Amino acid sequence: MAQRTRKNNKKTKNNTKIIFVTGGVISGIGKGITASSIGNILKARGFKIFMQKLDCYLNIDPGVLSPYEHGEVYVTEDGGETDLDLGHYERFIDETLTKESNYTTGKIYQRIFENERKGKYNGKTVQMVPHFTNEIMKIINSTIEKNKPDFLIVEIGGTIGDIESSPFIKAISEYSFRNPDTCYFVHVTYVPWLNASKEFKTKPTQNSISMLLSGGINPNMILLRSQNPINEDIIDKISNLSYIKKECVISVYDFDSVYRVPLYLESQGVCERILEFFSIKPRKSNFKDWEQFVNKLVEPKKNNINIAMIGKYIELEDAYKSIKEALFISGIYENANINFDWISAESIEEKNIALKLRDIDGVVILPGFGKRGFEGKVTAVNYTRKNNIPTLGICFGMQAMTINQARLKGIKDATSSEISDKGTFVLDIIVGKDKENIGGTLRLGADTICLKDNSQIKRIYEESEISERSRHRYEVNPKYISKIEDKEFKFTGYNKSKNLIEVCELENHPFYIGVQYHPEFNAKPLRPSKLFSAFIKSIIKIKN
Ligand code: GLN
Repeated sequence: MAQRTRKNNKKTKNNTKIIFVTGGVISGIGKGITASSIGNILKARGFKIFMQKLDCYLNIDPGVLSPYEHGEVYVTEDGGETDLDLGHYERFIDETLTKESNYTTGKIYQRIFENERKGKYNGKTVQMVPHFTNEIMKIINSTIEKNKPDFLIVEIGGTIGDIESSPFIKAISEYSFRNPDTCYFVHVTYVPWLNASKEFKTKPTQNSISMLLSGGINPNMILLRSQNPINEDIIDKISNLSYIKKECVISVYDFDSVYRVPLYLESQGVCERILEFFSIKPRKSNFKDWEQFVNKLVEPKKNNINIAMIGKYIELEDAYKSIKEALFISGIYENANINFDWISAESIEEKNIALKLRDIDGVVILPGFGKRGFEGKVTAVNYTRKNNIPTLGICFGMQAMTINQARLKGIKDATSSEISDKGTFVLDIIVGKDKENIGGTLRLGADTICLKDNSQIKRIYEESEISERSRHRYEVNPKYISKIEDKEFKFTGYNKSKNLIEVCELENHPFYIGVQYHPEFNAKPLRPSKLFSAFIKSIIKIKN
């Protein structure tokens, strides 16, 4: 009988271990990179990893947030509009994450309100504790149930001490109480350097640890973020004051590249400490490929290329995080150092475009929403087309290429119904005409795209069917396809199930390709995107 119970327990519990990552002192210190790097080093030991971010804001998801708020919206394969940290997670652990990997306070409230309306709380007063906290615990359990990882890494957004994060801290503390020996807590804090007195200050870290302790969490590991390495005395001090073993207090200073962090954490024994804690037998690690990639980062590059990034939110590079990383990664493999020149689409006019692109080797027309800056993008693609400058148009960028071509073909008032209410809508809402509910009508997630024979895009991917992710609302209007296409400008990729246009390309040009989808979400350090690599190759070819 006892044996049967044990067997049953094993089956339902999955033996998943959870690593909770919290942040202290200030935000923006690379908690997401740290969490992903822990995932990376555990995966290098052959463990199955899944990651989740719990964000403490009230939006249901970041879908309708301005990129100025939290940077880009990262789209998962299953169509989740998620936090930018999920991009780090997928790049560092190379696993496909899902909508489940990102919950916000708003999304959790939504679940609670739905339950409440259905009378699921049996007439009880619905409260933050236990209802909100129970919901968080349920989410963690169902993620484990569905994905059955060896390790689930859960990052709590924000900083300890925020009003918004306190129910999350309460929930994970209770979770570890209910599931003893299952949870490990990593706290990432910031240690400021005082230039006047030439010393690191530990007080903010001490305070953030006490806040965690008062929330019922005794961290197992403290990662100290700072610009430069933190000396032993400081590590001793933090260890003594917070009762955390010295070998679990680790200085994580700034590196020239975030991709170096996993190897550094590995060298500091982070993985061993975690496995020791759970009494898991150490396994041999395999960092060969990652190390090879990291070594490539510092090798002197043969080519220096200038890429103009033309978009609307250029003041915040995080708004285009995955595109920048995709280009950077392809650059590493193509032996190219990329210098990014961020140009505001709004500032572009016929009369200044030549000057703006004077020292530019290639142009990326970035995705975007709304009218602002769109005509600047059209002016840019018209110029790069005529002047043989390699150009990659992504989503709104591809739409700009299409509208420009339509105008060149004589549809003088060609536009998109997104940017004007009069004109010929060569871009229009074709599926899900629901302009009111802007959070819900986008074409989202991965789908199969067919690439036409004898096209450049097919030669690039070396496949006739590919899978890429989308995030847009307007489509090339099928009514105008035959009027837009000609011998030089062709639509060469289309969505297999919906028969919608996905790719445009121009012949007799070094590189002029627009994609309705977002190739950046599939670019990984060990699997660069073929499209970004082809774009960079075309630039290098012209330069040499
Ligand atoms: N605004 C365009 C659309 O919704 C393009 C979106 C994008 O660039 N991601 O169709």
